[in-house]
Amino acid sequence: MRRKLAAGNWKMNGTGDGLGELRTLSQSHSASAVDILICPPATLLHRAGAVLDGSGIATGGQDCHAAGSGAHTGDISAAMLADAGATAVIVGHSERRADHDERNDDVRAKAKTAMEAGLMAVVCLGESLAEREAANTLDIIAGQMSGSIPDLSTGENLVIAYEPIWAIGTGKVPTMEQIGEVHGFVRTRLDRRFGAGVARSVRVLYGGSVKPGNAGEIFAVPNVDGALVGGASLKADDFSPIIHALEDAAG
Ligand code: PEP
Repeated sequence: MRRKLAAGNWKMNGTGDGLGELRTLSQSHSASAVDILICPPATLLHRAGAVLDGSGIATGGQDCHAAGSGAHTGDISAAMLADAGATAVIVGHSERRADHDERNDDVRAKAKTAMEAGLMAVVCLGESLAEREAANTLDIIAGQMSGSIPDLSTGENLVIAYEPIWAIGTGKVPTMEQIGEVHGFVRTRLDRRFGAGVARSVRVLYGGSVKPGNAGEIFAVPNVDGALVGGASLKADDFSPIIHALEDAAG
């Protein structure tokens, strides 16, 4: 069965001072019943890995370039992330799609490169508020899935994060029915494209304003295999109760 996953996205936050939070997390959650992934800024990957060494908590990047190497000043390749100790990378986050005009094709190319470098790609999908209000959510998700997810995806190298754009960093959360509808839809689309084996094994995370106070309810929704957490992953005091809620959901 799918192992649950709590993933933290630190975004452009954190310097060496923040590593103490990871020390605290590693003390509370080493050998956890769920997978835990921290995606700090790339500058901290190596030091984060050293702090988390032996805890079972993994590190990941927040983005990678679609090319393996070359003249791309300021960019980071999937192989560089792996070299810095990462085992995963987030691709297609809505902030990347908005700030860097990343399209589904770009996201698919990045995910493919990441998988070929041995990383697990956490592919983000999600509708805007206007799309939800126009009742277009499932069409948007279907298009993002067919455009952003590479053919070589498996349960080991792909995680999907459903993150409604309007819920990210806003404190707004969809109803549990809305989350369940999208997660069920994602599972059905995976089945149709990749077959039952892959559909059963790919983890589908929810992301968008997950907090200690709402995590338990979200984790009880069918087909929710964990969370991608932004703001609440920066402090161990906030992230730890979310992980505990996921551990409880894992039984
Ligand atoms: C995110 O950026 O992926 C995210 C879910 O952010 P937040 O938890 O802060 O809404």
